[in-house]
Amino acid sequence: MQQNFYGEVLYYTFPEFEQYKDLIHGFSSREGGVSRGFFSTMNMGVHTGDDRENILENYSIFCDTLGVDVNQVVLAPLSHGDTIRNVTKDDAGSGLCKPFMFEETDGLLTDVPGLVLTATFADCVPVFFYDPVKKVAGIAHSGWRGTVKEIAGKMVERMQADYGCDTKNIHVGIGPSIGMCCFEVSEDVFYDFTELTYLEDGWYFDKDNGHYDIDLWRVIWATLTDRGILPENIAISGICTCCNSSLLFSHRATKGRRGTMAGMISIKEPAKKESL
Ligand SMILES: [Zn+2]
Repeated sequence: MQQNFYGEVLYYTFPEFEQYKDLIHGFSSREGGVSRGFFSTMNMGVHTGDDRENILENYSIFCDTLGVDVNQVVLAPLSHGDTIRNVTKDDAGSGLCKPFMFEETDGLLTDVPGLVLTATFADCVPVFFYDPVKKVAGIAHSGWRGTVKEIAGKMVERMQADYGCDTKNIHVGIGPSIGMCCFEVSEDVFYDFTELTYLEDGWYFDKDNGHYDIDLWRVIWATLTDRGILPENIAISGICTCCNSSLLFSHRATKGRRGTMAGMISIKEPAKKESL
């Protein structure tokens, strides 16, 4: 992933997605916002206990950075599940400028230009989706539970079923999140992953003490390729939030005293024709 700077704001983008001029996307960092203390500074988490004014200001700054309308933000009410919503114009503002209009959703999809699909993260894996042929964009929040529930694979299935997308056209970006270097789990969590029968070698390291290091990026990659996504269409940031907790919020590195980053994706509205 590429680092970008806009004033004080540091954010990340996938070069693989930037080639599409009708797509806007980005992943925020801790840099460039107005929050204080362990929320400093770009806290995008509406349920973190931070001042609402600061959060709204951070959203305003980050939306200006990306060039999207903060009133069009649709925030996913996360629950570590596998519920996916097809977002329409009626959802604009849900969770940020208006109360949440729907519940418990970890995946958002849309083909409506202008809407800003947004989910928040602090170690969980942001997964961005775009089909430049059908012009369908999506974002999923895939923590370890969502990864075991194959939310990334279910996003692909929904893009096929609901929007007529062809898997060979779908591009996927796996963003900054906890890496295998830092994601140690107990045996029961490890065994949940072994239910994903298509996993091959290399997705875990057995520490021989009842604990395992798990590579969520590789597991999600395997889920995506199992559903027919072409390996060359999957970009992995390789950035570990826990190793970079001065720049990125990490739940594990801070034992929960932290804000959250936002991943946003939006299809650009066509330029308005001048009326005579
Ligand atoms: Zn790490």
